[in-house]
Formats: sequence, structure tokens, C-alpha cells
Amino acid sequence: MRTLRVQLLTVLILIGVGIIGMITWVGFLTHRSSVIKQAYDNLEKQSSMVANLLIHSSSNTNKGFSLNNEKIKTIKTLEKTYQTEICIIDGNKIVYQDNMVVDKKNTTPAPDLLSSNEEEALKQSQEKDHVVKMHTKEKFFCMKPVSLNQENKIIVMISVDTASVLATYHKMQKNIYIIDGILFLILVVIAVFYSRSVIKPLKELTTSINRITDGFLGEKLTVDSYTEIEDVVDSINSMTTKLETLESSRQEFVSNVSHELKTPITSIKVLADSLLQQEDAPAELYREFLVDINAEIERENKIITDLLSLVKMDKTAGVLNIATINISELCEQIMKRIKPIAADRNINLIFESYRTIMAEVDEVKLSLAINNLIENAVKYNYDNGWVRVSLNADHKFFYIKVSDSGVGIPEDEQENVFERFYRVDKARSRETGGTGLGLSITRNAILMHRGAIKVYSKEKEGTTFTVRIPLNYVS
Ligand code: ADP
Repeated sequence: MRTLRVQLLTVLILIGVGIIGMITWVGFLTHRSSVIKQAYDNLEKQSSMVANLLIHSSSNTNKGFSLNNEKIKTIKTLEKTYQTEICIIDGNKIVYQDNMVVDKKNTTPAPDLLSSNEEEALKQSQEKDHVVKMHTKEKFFCMKPVSLNQENKIIVMISVDTASVLATYHKMQKNIYIIDGILFLILVVIAVFYSRSVIKPLKELTTSINRITDGFLGEKLTVDSYTEIEDVVDSINSMTTKLETLESSRQEFVSNVSHELKTPITSIKVLADSLLQQEDAPAELYREFLVDINAEIERENKIITDLLSLVKMDKTAGVLNIATINISELCEQIMKRIKPIAADRNINLIFESYRTIMAEVDEVKLSLAINNLIENAVKYNYDNGWVRVSLNADHKFFYIKVSDSGVGIPEDEQENVFERFYRVDKARSRETGGTGLGLSITRNAILMHRGAIKVYSKEKEGTTFTVRIPLNYVS
């Protein structure tokens, strides 16, 4: 399982180990080279001391080189003090080494007692007449040519055990490994705590989200953490607020639907009950009541039909049956259908179209929308009033304007008229067979066409609805 915490922990530990490793490696290198340099410096210093001792020797003659007891003693003291070995080579003969003093005559040829590296260094030192420093697995050594006089030139070789030179370095190495181990443990502890502190707000967030999932929709998330997580929390909070609004509007819708559907049924029941209570009610009363019952059934039917078209519109959002339609003709057809209703109340229906307008629309849905607007203009009009439908277009949109000389909508109610079941004057709406769903259906249909609808109205003077829809459908 890939967890953020394990990943974070691994990355932190790897980075930490990398840094510790680098510092250790650089530390080792620099310390080792400083130990080596120090050892060479010591050897050279000592060789200079021996050289001084030999140069100022009174026993040096042009014939050769010899050591008196006093010098040997001094050399030995030096060897003891510095834990080194001194070797004096004259030509290719060793005249002093370790504890033995080699007589000039019985000298052992140097190459026999010297290692191949030492021999090489000796050669270089003799030929080039300068100090040669070198180290092998066993020894660090320094060869210094010393001119005793014009003829005599000897080589002073000082050597020390590699093990003793590197002893401090190895000791330090061990200590550093222990420090590294401690640092690694500290690193792991820090990484564990840090990764836990990074993950903690995410865990809190999950717990809070789970609570919301369990149904506590009203609860707001509060996580005091990094800006990024706070941003996520803000987004979730605004999402839950939206869900809450949606949920409450859904509940309101359901209760409205139940109420609206119940009203006609209640009326039917009241009418039927009152008929049943009168044992010998006259046939005219039956007839009268049945007409009322019939009207209520029709009303119920209309509510259900409107609800179905609304639900259908919601469900098939985006699934439009687009075709190129002559909008002028469509408006004319709708007006023709409404004309008899308007004529009943002597309402003048006027249609103004400046030119033929062709547009890509869903004919059924758009005609439902226009029909509702014109029907409302007639329904909420005064007798002998007028309704004017005008159609226009530019290169991008077509515009439908439905104006009437009707009762108008109070200003503070204008933005609510598009809501489901919203009716300004319930009694009047009922009278005219309104369900409060018409404008909701209209707006949905227009929005599906990527259009817009606006209302302008003045009480008792009239209302104008303007609709704007793109000529070419953009999905
Ligand atoms: P209804 O089925 O009640 O007509 P609508 O959704 O079509 O429902 O309209 C909502 C409310 O808006 C109506 O009840 C009415 O009060 C008001 N309304 C709609 N159109 C007009 C109009 N042209 N003039 C005045 N009021 C209107």
C-alpha cells in the first residue's frame, strides 16, 4: 500500500542519510590528509634535526663519515621521543640503522636492507638532491640528502609505522561512526514525528469528511494547518454548503409537490363527502359537484404534466434534439394556439417580426418556453389588454420579447418568479389554472440552449420578459 507517510519518511531518511554520509566522507578525507601531512611534517622536521646534528659533527672528514657515541645517543633519544626509526645511508651503504652502528668497512649495502619503495626513494633523493617523502602500507618515510662537506653526501631516512600514524585517524573514524549512528537515530525520530505532523491534518480532514458523509451535512470543517490544506477545507466547506442548499431545496420541492398534489385531492374529497352526506341530493347538485370534481382532476393532471416536463428537462439536460427551425413560424404557431383564450377576454395579441430568423434549437423545449411566457402574459392581464411578442436577431443571438399590459409583478418578487411553485398571487394563479411551474420550465429550457431570460415589470402596468438565445447551438 502506497501511503504518503511512508513515502515522506523514506524521502526524509534518504536525504538525511545522504547528507550525513557526505559530511562523514568529506570529514574522513580531510582528516586523513591532515594526519598524513602532519606525519610528513614531523618526519621532515626530525630529518632536519638529524641533518643539523650530522653537519656540525667534528668527526666529519673529507675521507668519510663516522658517528661517535655521543651522536648515536642523541639519535637514539630522538628515535625514542618521536617513535621513529632513523637510518643514515652513505652512498649505498647503511651506516646507522635501528640499534646497530655499521662500521664503514662492514657496512651492509643499502639495497639489501631497504624495501623496493625505499630504494626507489633513495635513488630519487640522491639523484635530484632533494627531500623525498613517501608512504607504504607499512611505513611513512622521508629521505633527506645532507651535504657534510664538498665530497661527502649522506642520506638521512626517518620512518614511522603507518599503523601508528593512522592510529588517531582510525580512532576518530570509530567515533564518527558512533556519532553517525546517533545522528541516524535522531533523524529517524525527527522524520517519524515530522511525517506524522504532516499527515495529522489530513487524518483530521478524513475524520471530518467521514462525519459529513455520515449525515452531519451542516457541520463545517475546521482544520488549522498548512495553507494548501486550509484551501481544500474551504473548498469542501463551500461544497457542503451548496449540498446543504441543494438538499433543503430538494426537501422544499418534495414538500411543495406533495402539498400541490394534495390540494386538488382534498377538494375532490370534500366535494364527494358533502354529496355522500346528503342522502337525496338533487341531480343538479350532483352535476354541479361533478363539474368541480372534474376541474380539480384536470388541475391535478396539469400539475403532474408540468412536473413531468420539469423532471424530464432536468434529466435530459444536455440531451437536446437540435434542428434548424424557423423561429418566426414557431412563434406564430404558438400565438395561433393562444389566440382563442386571449380573444375570450378581448386581449389583443400582437406579433412583430422584423425578418425570418432561422436558429438551431430544440423545437419542443423552446416552444414550451415561449408558450408559457405568452400564456402568462394573457393569464396575468386585464380584460381588454394587449400582449406584444416581438422577435429580433443580430449575427449571434435571436431575441424574443413578450410584453403585456397586465397586473405586473412587485419588484421584490421579480427574482423569485422562476422558482418552482412560486406564485405571486396564489389565488389568482389557482383561478387561472397555474401551477407555479411554468416559468421554472421556461428558464430551464432557455438555459439548456445557453440562453438567458430577464424580467422587467411594474405593478398594475405590465410585464416584459426578454429572452436571448444563440442562433447556433453551442454544446
Ligand atoms: P403559474 O403556473 O402560476 O403561472 P409560473 O411559473 O408561470 O406559474 O409563474 C409564476 C408566477 O409569476 C405566477 O404565479 C405569477 O404570479 C407571476 N407571473 C408570471 N408571468 C407573469 C406576467 N406576465 N405578469 C404578471 N405576473 C406574472
